Amino acid sequence: MLKTIAKRCFSCGKLKAPKVCIVGAGPAGFYAAQHLHKKLVGAEIYIIESLPVPFGLVRFGVAPDHPEVKNVIHTFTKTAEAPNVKFHGNIALGQNVSLDELRRCYNIVLLTYGAEENRQLNIPGETLGNVITAKKIVGWYNGVPSDRNLQIDLSGDTVAIIGQGNVAVDVARMLLSPPDQLKNTDITEYSLSHLSQSKVQTVHLIGRRGPLQAAYTIKELREMLKLKNCRTVWRKDDFQAIPRDIVDTLPRPKKRITELMLESVETGSNGDPSEKVFNPMFLRSPLEVLGKSTVEKLVLCKNRLTGQDYTKQVAVATDSTEILDCSMVIPSIGYHSKQADPNIPFDANIGRVNNARGKIDTGLYTSGWLATGPVGVILFTMSNAFGVAELIIEDIAKENILQEPKAGFEELKTILDARHIQIVEWEDWKKIDEYEVKQGAQVGKPREKVVDIQQMLEIAA
Ligand SMILES: Cc1cc2nc3c(=O)[nH]c(=O)nc-3n(C[C@H](O)[C@H](O)[C@H](O)COP(=O)(O)OP(=O)(O)OC[C@H]3O[C@@H](n4cnc5c(N)ncnc54)[C@H](O)[C@@H]3O)c2cc1C
Repeated sequence: MLKTIAKRCFSCGKLKAPKVCIVGAGPAGFYAAQHLHKKLVGAEIYIIESLPVPFGLVRFGVAPDHPEVKNVIHTFTKTAEAPNVKFHGNIALGQNVSLDELRRCYNIVLLTYGAEENRQLNIPGETLGNVITAKKIVGWYNGVPSDRNLQIDLSGDTVAIIGQGNVAVDVARMLLSPPDQLKNTDITEYSLSHLSQSKVQTVHLIGRRGPLQAAYTIKELREMLKLKNCRTVWRKDDFQAIPRDIVDTLPRPKKRITELMLESVETGSNGDPSEKVFNPMFLRSPLEVLGKSTVEKLVLCKNRLTGQDYTKQVAVATDSTEILDCSMVIPSIGYHSKQADPNIPFDANIGRVNNARGKIDTGLYTSGWLATGPVGVILFTMSNAFGVAELIIEDIAKENILQEPKAGFEELKTILDARHIQIVEWEDWKKIDEYEVKQGAQVGKPREKVVDIQQMLEIAA
């Protein structure tokens, strides 16, 4: 119905086609663009992105050995190449252009710039050498330009990862995988070569609660259990407190993963002692990192769980501590967003843009991790983006958003030209893409990413 109204109105000229600016070319941005393009026929949709390259965490977050996840890029490419959709890279909201300027140029502004900041542990010793966040390590192996020169020392044999989400497991897998298994992925060449020299033998994956509250999912755990030349070693004590009769009452995904863990604990690891070790460790919270200039030990507090409902059980610190010898500490305790522009209503405590189901203000919306917080896989982000796009369509029909004529990208380009910003168009990205694929083919990889922004801009030009 809306589609028909929009079509009729735009073509009879009584209603100007909406000019929509989406800020951020990750999954939320592309899925919102896809929905608006499909449902709001004739709308002009512009995606602006701070980097010269698109796809957000699909390019820079998803692990190199998960190529199947990156297939969404084909759908995003189709959207970007649709008539009325335009991609403009190398334009950062808050640096190259302000929110007020965007709102002056477009009827609708949709913020989807993600959650790129790192949560801190806030414990003594956090600034010692070789305490490196999972976010930075992910950026390093995935070619995030600002992380490419990360100094990461893999000469020690034990790494402690703090956190038990899928990102933490990704990092553990990358550290423990045989380099041969990574060499045909799109991992950056410098990190592959560094990982090939790694002396890391053991990776602890430390969670503050128990096995029933572990945040990793079954697919990621299965991968670890099957990893070549690596055995998973559990601490049997961690599983003592799980009453076996509770397992059957758990919701299906939780039941399956708990059964898998119990089975693995049961069968134990009779692996070859020369194999690497993946050691999930529960009921521990970090208290302090010790070392002279770089990590030597990690002090952990032993926790106990309180509460009847296992989903709501909380970890309470006890007086006991445990000290782990390790040469590297990797906090993986989540992300948060930043306020890219002072006029974005923002809750600094939770690190999220204030919004009601995606709406911030008339003509101003948000979706994806910026709106929901850094939770959920791409599928979750997709349904959130579709929902917010639908809300925009409803509001266009209800509110007078289109009354004021807007000049769209024409005006934005004038602003950016005056600031000497090189705009990277979709065709320019295709040149970078082609270059990367060519470089990759020479070493049997799907692509070798360009990791230097200046080089990206030179290829684009
Ligand atoms: C390490 C990691 C691994 C993951 N692996 C998987 C997986 O295997 N499978 C899965 O389904 N999900 C995975 N996810 C989750 C998935 O990546 C997210 O659900 C999804 O990327 C969120 O999309 P988004 O568009 O909200 O944010 P993002 O993907 O972060 O996109 C935001 C975009 O905005 C751009 N931007 C930032 N600031 C500005 C600015 N000021 N101006 C303009 N543009 C800006 C960024 O460059 C980026 O391109 C993973 C997440 C992480 C962190």
